[in-house]
Amino acid sequence: METHPKENSSCIICHQGKDHGIRICGQFICSDCERDIVHSDVRDEVYQHYVNEMKRIWWSALTLGH
Ligand SMILES: [Zn+2]
Repeated sequence: METHPKENSSCIICHQGKDHGIRICGQFICSDCERDIVHSDVRDEVYQHYVNEMKRIWWSALTLGH
């Protein structure tokens, strides 16, 4: 059995450590939350939460990076 070294992938939406997901600007969004976002309506609370979290990511990326 091969074990892959796990990165510290803590989802920025649900704050849980997940194996699968996407990375944006070094921030991790798990596949569960990604699916929620994809299936959520723009007026949905989940989407609003996502937008807020994303704003935080862009902001920190701007502050930290180039
Ligand atoms: Zn998540």
